[in-house]
Amino acid sequence: MNLFDVYPLYNITPVKALDCTITDENGVEYLDLYSGHGVISIGHTQPDYVAKLKNQLDNIGFYSNAIQNPLQVELAAKLGKLSDCEEYSLFLCSSGAEANENALKVASFHNGKSRVIAFDNSFHGRTSAAVAVTDNKKIVAPINAQQIVTFLPLNNLDLVETELKKGDVCTVIIEGIQGVGGLDEGTTEFFQGIEKLCNQYEVVLILDEVQSGYGRSGKFFAFQHHNIKPDIICLAKGMGNGFPIGGIMISPKFTASYGLLGTTFGGSHLACAAGIAVLDVIENQKLMNNANEVYAYFLEAIKQVPEIVKVKGKGLMLGVEFDFDVSALRKKMIVEKHIFTGSANNKNLLRILPPLTIKKEAIATFIVALKESLAELK
Ligand code: PLP
Repeated sequence: MNLFDVYPLYNITPVKALDCTITDENGVEYLDLYSGHGVISIGHTQPDYVAKLKNQLDNIGFYSNAIQNPLQVELAAKLGKLSDCEEYSLFLCSSGAEANENALKVASFHNGKSRVIAFDNSFHGRTSAAVAVTDNKKIVAPINAQQIVTFLPLNNLDLVETELKKGDVCTVIIEGIQGVGGLDEGTTEFFQGIEKLCNQYEVVLILDEVQSGYGRSGKFFAFQHHNIKPDIICLAKGMGNGFPIGGIMISPKFTASYGLLGTTFGGSHLACAAGIAVLDVIENQKLMNNANEVYAYFLEAIKQVPEIVKVKGKGLMLGVEFDFDVSALRKKMIVEKHIFTGSANNKNLLRILPPLTIKKEAIATFIVALKESLAELK
């Protein structure tokens, strides 16, 4: 049987990985500045993480959510503490799209409405009930028939208020920092404004931190740069360092009831072991501090590259923007310089999303390779 061919592939086959280095089948080493779409938070094959997963697998990997699982309780407690969101409750699932779907469900059950406000270039997943994908304003993923999604530009509070005033809006969903769309983000005034409007019009504010969460922005959640408290926070990607785990953190204003949400795989013993190991490493190795330090270094070092028009994002969720399509540059960086970076819907943007363990030396290596590549492409 062939694979259903939906991904354009580079001709590279990784067989091993350690921290920020990926080795292919020919023994060639690559610097990973992309973390597989921002998934590898604590570094590839981090030893404590591997040991914890192996040990868990030797004991029990999975059972049903209808039976007590103390690892879920431990994960929730650690997550609440490290993220400074102890008053929220945790529902576990297995991916980012599933997290967002569950968030939409909770919101809709809460206020009985269904219209969703999302933002231009947002990305919230690719399942049929996930809210939306825009690619140059074109919706490329189907939307559940019950959900009408209205897209608005970022940072225009008047337009948000006009929609909320109509009385049929269930939720406003927004990424802490846009990932796939190209690293645009709301201003503090905008985040605080939508929080206020959502409270005023009894609309649920969902923060999609699937990509921007788990320390990537230099704070545990990107919205924490803006001093707001969302109603629901969506998690995945960095949460399991490659093990599929997602979740939603739900504010105390929502009441749980049996059967409201459910999942088969979410919160398995193995997933929780991965989640706990990730949080322990983020805390013990002070990876949020590292994200901030490397970010400060990056901002200085990138000044050596005059071709860059703009640096977008925060912490280790970054994009460097040029005034040309970067596909050839990105390809050259991978194939010839052996450095993985990412692309975005904005074709002029190179995305930098390394593991949170990345060192300044690796950024220096990247800058040298970037300068060489730009010169060679001229
Ligand atoms: N939300 C955001 C902000 C994302 O970046 C992504 C994936 O890139 C998703 C949701 C979907 O996550 P998943 O692919 O795990 O379903």
